[in-house]
Amino acid sequence: MSYSSMAKSELCRIRPESECCQVAEAYGLLLYAKLLSERHDSYSTDNKAIASLICECAASVCGVYADVLTYPKSSGGTHRFAVKIPNAEQKKMICARFAGAGNVLANECCLNAFLRGAFLVCGTVTEPQKDYHLEFAAGSQRRCEILAGVMQRVGIHSHQLQRNDRWVLYVKDADGIINLMNRMGAHYAAQNLEQTRTVRDWRNNANRRVNCDQANIDRTLSASEQQCAAIRKLTEKRGFEGIPPELREIAALRLENPEMSLRELSESLSEPITRSGVNHRLKKLMELAEETQ
Ligand SMILES: [Zn+2]
Repeated sequence: MSYSSMAKSELCRIRPESECCQVAEAYGLLLYAKLLSERHDSYSTDNKAIASLICECAASVCGVYADVLTYPKSSGGTHRFAVKIPNAEQKKMICARFAGAGNVLANECCLNAFLRGAFLVCGTVTEPQKDYHLEFAAGSQRRCEILAGVMQRVGIHSHQLQRNDRWVLYVKDADGIINLMNRMGAHYAAQNLEQTRTVRDWRNNANRRVNCDQANIDRTLSASEQQCAAIRKLTEKRGFEGIPPELREIAALRLENPEMSLRELSESLSEPITRSGVNHRLKKLMELAEETQ
């Protein structure tokens, strides 16, 4: 089962307690199923529970008894389910119930129920392992703006875009999606996303650490390359005997071990000195090489 379906099956089981929230949920369902628009009198879905929920809400809130039609999918073995408003009279009753529906969303408690209804009929959420992306295929610009207004009221940052004439509202950040899931009542899905995020963050940090270690190694190598070049130049121009006695051991050690860090070099000397002592001697060798023509 996809993450989206999992969240939706969790949401389908919720029934709002107060009447105002039941109306708000019905509004979200019917508005985003486009059943409040002039041109549509049916809504189809792969999810039978969602189709049944729309019928239940249309009956309890609008007094309209819609049918659920089942028909085979053109591709694949499963079925699709269509909610069909039986006639123009019933369609009018639904539209009249929500004419000038501004006050449906007046109470703060109703916003979550409205979002749940909208998400069930036009929302999708990407597998959190792949990406953090939740979107509502709102359709018209007006429907998109109603949703954007509600998102703003509940403090979730959302974006709008137009895809082939249709308006889409989306949430891109994990925090926003977790917040929305919890508000709608999909607590299990929210928890699941949170766990996935923890693992993803941990993995990203681990990768960053590896990259950082690699950068340190690269830095050691390029410093070491310069030191080796300086030591080679000195031995060519002056001979090994031309290098001051106290610098000879470190010069030979560096040439033989270009990959060693300062610490490793310091520990490999016959008489160990500090890291900064090693650094000092290597600098001295570089200076000498520079002075040597
Ligand atoms: Zn309410």
